[in-house]
Amino acid sequence: LTTTDLIEEHRICVCVRKRPLNKKELTVKDLDVITIPSKDVVMVHEPKQKVDLTRYLENQTFRFDYAFDESTTNEMVYRFTARPLVETIFDRGMATCFAYGQTGSGKTHTMGGDFSGKNQDCSKGIYALAARDVFLMLKKPNYKKLDLQVYATFFEIYSGKVFDLLNHKAKLRVLEDGKQQVQVVGLQEREVRCTEDVLKLIEMGNSCRTSGQTSANAHSSRSHAVFQIILRKKGKMHGKFSLIDLAGNERGADTSSADRQTRLEGAEINKSLLALKECIRALGRNKPHTPFRASKLTQVLRDSFIGENSRTCMIATISPGMASCENTLNTLRYANRVKEF
Ligand code: ADP
Ligand code: MG
Repeated sequence: LTTTDLIEEHRICVCVRKRPLNKKELTVKDLDVITIPSKDVVMVHEPKQKVDLTRYLENQTFRFDYAFDESTTNEMVYRFTARPLVETIFDRGMATCFAYGQTGSGKTHTMGGDFSGKNQDCSKGIYALAARDVFLMLKKPNYKKLDLQVYATFFEIYSGKVFDLLNHKAKLRVLEDGKQQVQVVGLQEREVRCTEDVLKLIEMGNSCRTSGQTSANAHSSRSHAVFQIILRKKGKMHGKFSLIDLAGNERGADTSSADRQTRLEGAEINKSLLALKECIRALGRNKPHTPFRASKLTQVLRDSFIGENSRTCMIATISPGMASCENTLNTLRYANRVKEF
């Protein structure tokens, strides 16, 4: 991929990112069943069995705006996905960027940064890269004269409830006023003056997100994290960029779980991911009716789905292993539907 491959001026961008096989998968000798034969094609080689028990691989091809293979860096993914949306918020628009995929496929690695090692580094995630470019853009003469202030929010949606990650996980109410404006009451909006300020907030929010949890991944796989960069001019909103690390989309086990709470959470996640797809599709069709009320996630993102100058990008993350094949196919089908009008 080079910069000449950059697709300009589309309202919805859908791409797929494949991660490398991890240690665990290598140890159990899981097979890599995904190939990326060109910059916009993903192939799945699904193992199947004939009636006579001979095995074969069934090839399925999917096309997207971009397909990123396992050697692609966060910086590169960012350049083709969220980077073009930074301009949108300077032009008084609303932008959203979602990471969608099964738990362990690389959503948090893509959005939040690298948390695999001891030294947690959020500076290479899309949250931080977008913030960096916002501050670079602010220095350009055209935008400098607008005299904009930058703010950030960070919250999570868990089981249909909103929790402020910049305020000790305070539970927040969502209200819709008479003018159909949706408000998250009491959400902390912190002014940020440089990328360093933003990194501190991301770290703070991340530690708040996982505090009191037995397993960071078990919790994050069941909640949506929303990080927002808001531009204001004399207090009035100029543009907003919402960057979202969605709950894991694997839900098979939940629906049959004996635990009522787990089943309810699973149903809530399914509902929100379906509503999200419909809202993005409505945006693409310029449909006057957007079914944002169907879930808390789409409700709090309402203003990003209805504006004339709204753009969105979905990064579908996939695991390469044969063991993940079914989830991977589900992810690719969902991502495909988002762009089908
Ligand atoms: P998710 O948030 O979707 O559950 P994570 O982002 O936590 O998944 O990724 C799971 C593991 O895989 C992490 O240890 C992460 O560092 C690693 N990983 C994910 N994507 C990549 C990638 N593109 N390159 C290298 N390692 C990755
Ligand atoms: Mg995660």
